[in-house]
Amino acid sequence: MALLQISEPGMSTVAHQHRLAVGIDLGTTNSLVATVRSGQAETLPDEEGRHLLPSVVHYSKNHPPIVGYPAQVRMAEDPLNTIASVKRLMGRSAEDAKTLDGYLPFNFAESDSNVPRIKTAGGDVSAVEVSAEILKALKERAELSLGGDLTGAVITVPAYFDDAQRQATRDAATLADLNVLRLLNEPTAAAIAYGLDKEAEGIIAIYDLGGGTFDISILRLNKGVFEVMSTGGDSALGGDDFDHVLAEYMIKQSGQTNTQAIVSLALMEARRAKEALTSKDSVEVSCGNWKENITREKFNALIEPWVKKTLMACRRALRDANLEKEDVLNIVMVGGSTRVPYVRERVAEFFGREPLVDIDPDRVVAVGAAIQADILAGNKPDDEMLLLDVIPLSLGLETMGGLVEKIISRNTTIPITRAQEFTTFKDGQTAMTIHVLQGERDTVEACRSLAKFTLRGIPPMVAGAARIKVTFQVDADGLLSVSAEETITGAKAKIEVKPSYGLSDAEIEAMLRESMENAQADKEARQLRETKMEAERTLEALNSALQADGDELLSADEKAKILAARDKLISEKETGTADSIEEAMKNLEKTAEFYVARRMNSSVQSAMAGHRINEFE
Ligand code: ADP
Ligand code: MG
Repeated sequence: MALLQISEPGMSTVAHQHRLAVGIDLGTTNSLVATVRSGQAETLPDEEGRHLLPSVVHYSKNHPPIVGYPAQVRMAEDPLNTIASVKRLMGRSAEDAKTLDGYLPFNFAESDSNVPRIKTAGGDVSAVEVSAEILKALKERAELSLGGDLTGAVITVPAYFDDAQRQATRDAATLADLNVLRLLNEPTAAAIAYGLDKEAEGIIAIYDLGGGTFDISILRLNKGVFEVMSTGGDSALGGDDFDHVLAEYMIKQSGQTNTQAIVSLALMEARRAKEALTSKDSVEVSCGNWKENITREKFNALIEPWVKKTLMACRRALRDANLEKEDVLNIVMVGGSTRVPYVRERVAEFFGREPLVDIDPDRVVAVGAAIQADILAGNKPDDEMLLLDVIPLSLGLETMGGLVEKIISRNTTIPITRAQEFTTFKDGQTAMTIHVLQGERDTVEACRSLAKFTLRGIPPMVAGAARIKVTFQVDADGLLSVSAEETITGAKAKIEVKPSYGLSDAEIEAMLRESMENAQADKEARQLRETKMEAERTLEALNSALQADGDELLSADEKAKILAARDKLISEKETGTADSIEEAMKNLEKTAEFYVARRMNSSVQSAMAGHRINEFE
């Protein structure tokens, strides 16, 4: 022990310094920033006392971009320079952006880059840059109200966000000059806000219905550790749909035509009415000269199909996690749209228990992120909290024959490191391509390609002798890196997987569904390919043996027999079934048995030539 140590262990000699750390909910519709002050987590308001910051940025020619409410009011007059819902574009490629076009009224700029850029009066901007403006505004708000520079921030992301989307979120933070302590899954943050991590063990469902997205996450709390059991939802379902269905009803009843201006007005009116109906039984709406009293019952009937859809996703998520509704101990309500009483009723009815609604559903994610940030910044050194999340889709490698070998299977908790050994396929092979894939199917074409790199410098050896260890590492933020090493020589190659595009949760869902539907066909295809590969290996080995000593060890007659069996295998390999290839392979092995035995004898003899027998004893 050091002689100069004068304080008790655990007691710091420097006065405890509180580091300013915040939690940020970077939402599709609204964003918030929160912090822990005097042990209490709270969201921070702007100068006018508003806690929410609309996730909207307005660009103009000669002024810096404006963010939040002032940007939102420009939406009607200047829609193409007013960027909303940019979260949907995070980590997406230009190709992906096209398929999202339906929702996103953006004017995409022509560019050869794979990152889509939106045309605005202030120049072309990427989703990362727009998000950075939102983060900057929140950072500024926090530093003003806390009176100092921030040490760091915990930023929340949807649990299903893939590598590219998480990386894009980090990039946005870097641009905003924010130090990211950790990316945290939104549902986990909500559970932390309710202090569920301090409770006994159990299953928690997080029901998050925002403006344009619905997410359901099933978490398991076990010895203070959160594990995400499954995630599900719909990236195109939310409170905006409630507005639309009510607006449509109003326009139809009023007998007006569907012009852009009328729809815009009706949507605003619908949103106002919807929010009012949360605390009132009925509300008057008008559209042109038409007026009507909309009751809560009427509104409930209109939104019923969407609410039902969310419950179906809940059912799927439970099934994915292998759980029954009765297993769920707590349901946490998140997102502005869970204020709608009908949503609460139906969720309670579905799970057979009342959901948790005490914390403002708009703020609950930011509050949880702030609590986590406080711990990560070191303000609560004793409070160990380990957070575990899962990967949404399996990660694997391409192996010979276009097959995918899974290295980390879906729903595995992170952080995780897993390694697997592979070997060379050909004699003298000195390089190996590592192709990283994401998905549940068995074949390369049916999975999503994440990255490809080559390991070089493998010493030439016979096929199957090299030992190539491939390691997959997914860190606590869900970012993947893959390394490959030839263990005999130590030749190494490594890649951080930063794919330029990501998968939407709908795509993930579709891929999972396909993998289940195709399980049998996949199995057969896999078997056929594997048998073909084996046949190929057998043929390679035979050919190189024949070349080495075929004429020496075999009579012409014997060689002809072996060649006949070999040709049979070659033709079966091209056109046969797994069974017939297998049979031809067995036949060849049998025919060539005596040759294999002869080769062994001859190699033992040549190895011993020049040695005395007792050397081998
Ligand atoms: P996101 O997570 O997508 O950023 P939010 O959680 O902020 O979204 O939710 C925004 C949605 O919540 C909007 O559709 C808004 O109309 C809805 N909302 C907000 N307050 C109420 C309310 N009192 N009643 C019904 N819906 C509400
Ligand atoms: Mg949200």
